[in-house]
Formats: sequence, structure tokens, C-alpha cells
Amino acid sequence: MDNDIYDEMVQERGKEYFLKNMVKYCIKRGDTLHGTVYGSDRYITKVDLKTNTGICTCPYQYNCKHAYALLESYKNGKYVDGDKLFFNFSKLDKEEILEIFEGIVEKHNLWDEFVKTEKTLLGTAKNMLELTKIEKKNLFTFTSFLRNQFLKNAENEELLEILPDVIKYIQERRKLEEILFLIVDELFERGKTDKDILKRLIELSRKYRELWMVKDNILDYEYFELLDY
Ligand SMILES: [Zn+2]
Repeated sequence: MDNDIYDEMVQERGKEYFLKNMVKYCIKRGDTLHGTVYGSDRYITKVDLKTNTGICTCPYQYNCKHAYALLESYKNGKYVDGDKLFFNFSKLDKEEILEIFEGIVEKHNLWDEFVKTEKTLLGTAKNMLELTKIEKKNLFTFTSFLRNQFLKNAENEELLEILPDVIKYIQERRKLEEILFLIVDELFERGKTDKDILKRLIELSRKYRELWMVKDNILDYEYFELLDY
């Protein structure tokens, strides 16, 4: 097996992880290994068996010791045949399958997959901002929602679209700045792979002087080509 893509150290530590039973499970489905591997946290790891490339939810992200541990698990025959698992499902009655399916949806609260609500996050964020007019403490609710949910899960489009509302509803200057900094920073992080989103942000910053930090960020990130945009 070609393991060149894994550092020697990573291979050693991955082997140790496998030997110390850190691989919770290893499932082979088609040409992919799926697994959960314990480390400082519980990581979800996938390995493409055609290239041995691993992706992982750990900070290392690619070709890490968790991915290597998963490969070791597979090489040592410690894996579950995922194709067979699904084949067995196909032999069950419709009612039996439905029962399993309902159990999974309920246990893991997967209703989002079936109940399509359009732009829920943006709508919720906007409504929360409106609530700040009624009661000041709702501003803390909004800030927490922003930090815990919105910044992580909103589409680029939604991050841009919330900015005018933030400017409209948050009166207190320091609070407003704090929140705009958070959103603008997130947009610049995402801008590493999508420069168009930054161009749209620059357009917005011409309209709202409250977005003065956009220009500072362009300089910090050294996106000098965007200065003339
Ligand atoms: Zn990892």
C-alpha cells in the first residue's frame, strides 16, 4: 500500500492509535472507509481507498493520524462491510425499513432533511434583530446566536444580507462595531477561496460607512488588488 502521503511520524502515531483501540469503528462502503476515531475529541474520519487520502474533522484535516489509524484498522481486517450492511436492508420489509428510518430521524433530530424552510437562519437572525427594539437583552441573544449558529452555518449570501439589518437595528456604537467585526472577519476567512464575496462586501462598505473595518482587513490580508476595486 502506498503510504507516502502520510508523514512517518503520522504513520507511527496512527498505528499506535489503532493498537490502543482508538478506532471506534471502521466501515468500508465502496472505495471509502468511514470511521470515528478518538483523540482529544471524537473525530469523524474518511479515507478514499483509491488514493489513501484521508479527511478528518480534527484540526489537521487531511492525512492525519486518525485517517491512518482507520487505514490500519482496515488492513488488519477490523472493519465492517458497509455494502453488505445496506444489502441486508434491501431484504427487509418496507415496514421494517420504515421503522428503522423513523427511529434514526427521531433519535438524531433529522427533521431538517425533510422540512424545507427557506433561509431559516437569515430569517431568524433578522427577527432577533427586530426583537432588540422591544427589549435590550435580546441583543445578547442575537450576539450569542450569531457566534454559535449564524457565523458557522449561514451562506455567504446570508452573511452579506444581514449586515444592513445589523447597522439599522444596533444603536450602541461599540456593540455595533463588535458585531460587524465578527461578520466581516468571517467573510474575509471565506474570501480566501471566494474573492467575489469580498468584492460584494466592498460594494456594501461604500454604502455604509459603519463598515470602515473592511478596508483595514483588505490591508491586513494584503489583498492589494482589491484596493482598486
Ligand atoms: Zn484527524
